[in-house]
Amino acid sequence: MPNIVLSIENLSVSVGSRIAIKDLNLEVPNNTILYLLGPNGAGKSTLLRTIIGYPGYNVLTGVIHFENEDVTDKPMEYRVSKGLALAHQIPPKLVGIRVIDLLSTLCKRGGCTINDVAKEMEIEHLLYREFGKGFSGGELKRVEIATLLAQRPRLALVDEPDTGVDVDSIEIVARGLKKLVEFSPHKSIVIVTHTAFIARYIEPDTTCILLNGSIIRCGEAELLYKVMRHGFKGLV
Ligand code: ADP
Ligand code: MG
Repeated sequence: MPNIVLSIENLSVSVGSRIAIKDLNLEVPNNTILYLLGPNGAGKSTLLRTIIGYPGYNVLTGVIHFENEDVTDKPMEYRVSKGLALAHQIPPKLVGIRVIDLLSTLCKRGGCTINDVAKEMEIEHLLYREFGKGFSGGELKRVEIATLLAQRPRLALVDEPDTGVDVDSIEIVARGLKKLVEFSPHKSIVIVTHTAFIARYIEPDTTCILLNGSIIRCGEAELLYKVMRHGFKGLV
């Protein structure tokens, strides 16, 4: 088992006409709950989407290694088949597809049972609803994390699990994230947040600060608490 699960070197990425990631370096080691913290527009979602291989996110320079394999030019399907998974900041609505349909497809691949996943995320009442249609913020996040649990990824990338989520749901979401760490053979996860609200429920081992498309600093948990108290300004 490699010591470093995910390694990113000198990454620059353009989206549309904008260079959203600039010369970014990041390592995700084993046994690490890694928080990526940054203000709106810093490039957090762009980074996660680039790691998973979204089309339209153009790597200008740099390299992405997942489990020691260079995946920089590999399509998204390949990266997902290798065990990477992304929980979206705003989960897409899937017209005509019920939650149970999606979980059933994912569980066939991942080897889970729909009932276990639904129970874990307390979404039994949503199983026969169209994915995302009319869901509350908390329901949407719980269903999204459920789809990740069903995939049993080797490394989950979770974008803003605490945005638009109330206190009751955040505890369920955090429980799901802990389960994802348990499922990961590396016992690692990457969690993106701009409020750090979720960090009260699942504590960081490492915090990295993303500003203007670059990681400006990584440190221990205290770094996150410092940002929560004083904001991002004092860090530059
Ligand atoms: P964050 O998730 O940290 O709030 P994003 O990664 O969503 O930030 O965005 C980073 C920057 O890239 C922003 O300035 C945003 O406007 C820009 N950006 C993101 N997606 C696109 C796109 N599809 N086309 C053009 N610019 C984009
Ligand atoms: Mg974002």
